[in-house]
Amino acid sequence: MPLSTTPPAIPAQLSQNARTVLAKRYLVKDAAGKPTETPEDMFWRVATVVAEADRRYGASDAQVQALAEEFYALMTQRRFVPNSPTLMNAGRPLGQLSACFVLPVDDALSNGQNGIYDTLRSMALIHQSGGGTGFSFSRLRQKGSMVRSTTGVASGPVSFMKLYDASTDAVKQGGTRRGANMGILRVDHPDVLEFITCKEDLTQVTNFNISVAVTEKFMQALQAGTSYDLVEPSSGRVVAQLDARTVWDKMVLGAWRTGEPGVFFIDEANRYNPVPHLGAYEATNPCGEQPLLPYDVCNLGSVNVGWYVTDGVVDWDAMARDIRTSTHFLDNIIDVNKYPLPEIDALSKRIRRIGLGVMGFADLLVRMGIPYDTPEGVEMGRRVMEFLDVEGKKESERLANERGPFPEWARSIWGPDETCARDASGARIRPMQLLRNCNVTTVAPTGTISIIAGCSSGLEPLFAVAFMRNQAGVMMPDVNEDFVAVAQREGWYSDALMERIAKTGSVKQSEIPERWQRVFVTANEITPEWHVRMQAAFQQHCDSAISKTTNFAHTATVDDVRAIYELAYELNCKGVTVYRDGSRDNQVLSTGATE
Ligand code: UDP
Repeated sequence: MPLSTTPPAIPAQLSQNARTVLAKRYLVKDAAGKPTETPEDMFWRVATVVAEADRRYGASDAQVQALAEEFYALMTQRRFVPNSPTLMNAGRPLGQLSACFVLPVDDALSNGQNGIYDTLRSMALIHQSGGGTGFSFSRLRQKGSMVRSTTGVASGPVSFMKLYDASTDAVKQGGTRRGANMGILRVDHPDVLEFITCKEDLTQVTNFNISVAVTEKFMQALQAGTSYDLVEPSSGRVVAQLDARTVWDKMVLGAWRTGEPGVFFIDEANRYNPVPHLGAYEATNPCGEQPLLPYDVCNLGSVNVGWYVTDGVVDWDAMARDIRTSTHFLDNIIDVNKYPLPEIDALSKRIRRIGLGVMGFADLLVRMGIPYDTPEGVEMGRRVMEFLDVEGKKESERLANERGPFPEWARSIWGPDETCARDASGARIRPMQLLRNCNVTTVAPTGTISIIAGCSSGLEPLFAVAFMRNQAGVMMPDVNEDFVAVAQREGWYSDALMERIAKTGSVKQSEIPERWQRVFVTANEITPEWHVRMQAAFQQHCDSAISKTTNFAHTATVDDVRAIYELAYELNCKGVTVYRDGSRDNQVLSTGATE
C-alpha cells in the first residue's frame, strides 16, 4: 500500500531564511506561482519516495512507513539534507534527483551518440532537470587542423565550449536554477594556452567554471624546468612542445586575476578511480568535487556535523546512526531516480556511485572552541571525515550483504581482482571491502542546502560572524547564533558591538576576549596555507574530491598563488580553486549560489 501523502504532525525546524529559499525555488507551485505545499509536505514527499525503494528488497508496509518517518526526521531536524534536485524533483514528473553529471564530447559534429551536437542536446536535458554538467573537450581536434569532409579548418575546443555556454543561457535550468558547467582541457592539448586565457574577459563563458587537467608528466617537467609534449588528440602525434614553467605561470596568473582556471590533478584522481576497467576520469562536475567517468552521475547529500555538539562534546554515536541512515537514503535514490539518458541509467546501476559529505563543519569547531586555522582544527577535520567515511562504508557494506554489491564490484579497486585493485608497484589501492557503492564520500559546496539547514557550508570556515541584512526595508545586523550565545553568556553582548562587527566584518574588537576572536575566525582572515591544509586533511579520507575555495587577500601576489597551487599538489589534493578578494564581482558558483 502506498504511504499516506500527509506528513507527520511534526513541524520542520527552519529559519525564516530557509523558508524563503524553499518557497522561492523548491516548493511545488500552482500556475499563478503560489506554493501548493508546505516545507513539511516537501520533506515528506522526498522521504516517502526514497523510502519506497526498500519495498523492492522485501520491506513491509510498516517498515517502509518507519523508514520514511526516519528520513523525514533527519531532514526536518536539519541533520542531513540531500542535494537540491532531490528536494525539487522527488515525486514529481521530472523525477531527476542528482546534481552531478559528466558527458563525453567526441570529435565529430554528430555521430548519433556523443558528437558535439549530440552531447549539446543531452546537456540541455540535464540542465532542464536541475543537474550540473562537466565536459572534457580534450578529444576535439585543435584549432586550425583539417576537417577532412569539408577540407575546411577546425575551430577548436574553446569555440565549442562557447557554443555550449550560449546554449546554457538559452535553456535556463528547469526554471529553478541556471545551468552550471565545468569545462576541462588537458594540459597536453595543443590549444591549452587559448583555453587558459579564455575567461580573462569576465563577460565570456559565464556558465562555465574551467580547469586545466594537469598530468604527472607535466608536473615532473615543471619540477625539472623542462618542456613537455603537446599531443594531437586524433592521432596521438606530438605536434609541439611548451615550456612547463611558462604554461604553469599563465595558469597561476589567471587564477590570481580572476580565480580561473582551476587545476584538476587528473592522474591523482584516476589513481582512485574505483572502476578503471570501465574507463578513466576525464572531467569533474561544475564545482569540482566529483570526478566522473563519461555518462557517470552522482547524487550528493550532506550531514550537518555541527548539530551533534552539545556543551563542547560531539555525540559520535548519534552522528554514526545518522551517517548510516543517510547512506541508506542515498543508495535508495539510485533505484527511484529518473535519469535523463539511458547510458546514464545503465552506468549508475552498475557502479551505484553516491557522495555523502559534510556541512556545518565550521559550526562544529566553533562549538568545540577550536579555531579553524590551527593543527587541532585540521586534525578535527581529518577525524570527522574519517568517521564519515568509515561509518558510511559500514552501511554500504551492510546494504551489499543484504541487496548485493554494486555489479562491477569484483573488478573494482574494492574487489578481489588483482589487476584492478593494485597499482603499478603491486600495492593495494584500497583495502578489500564488499560495498554496495563504488564511491561513498564526496564533500560538496552545499551552497543552498546549508541555507536550508541553517549551518555553515561544506568544510568552509565561517564566511562572516555578522553582516548587514535588509529586513523589510531596514538594515539590521544578522549575527551568528553561536556568537550571540557566547557573548550573552559571558556578558559582553551589546547591539552596538554586533552592528560594529557587521559593518567592519571583523571580530577584532577590544571588548571581545582574544580566545573568541580566534575561535570565530572568518574565511578572509585565514591564511591560504590553512585553507589548503584543511582541504588535504579531508581529502585523506574522501573517495572523491573536495569542494574548497582558498581565499586570498586582495593584496596577495602572483607568487602567493603559485605557492598554494604547488602546495595543493604536494599534499595530494585532487584539485585547487582560489579566490582573491575583489578579483571578480559576479562569481560563478564557486560557493554554489543558486541564482
Ligand atoms: N549545481 C548546479 N547548479 C547550481 C548549483 C549546484 O548544477 O546552481 C550542481 C553542481 O554539480 C555542484 C553540485 O550541484 O557541484 C553541488 O552543489 P551544492 O552543494 O552547492 O548544491 P546544493 O545541493 O546546495 O544546491
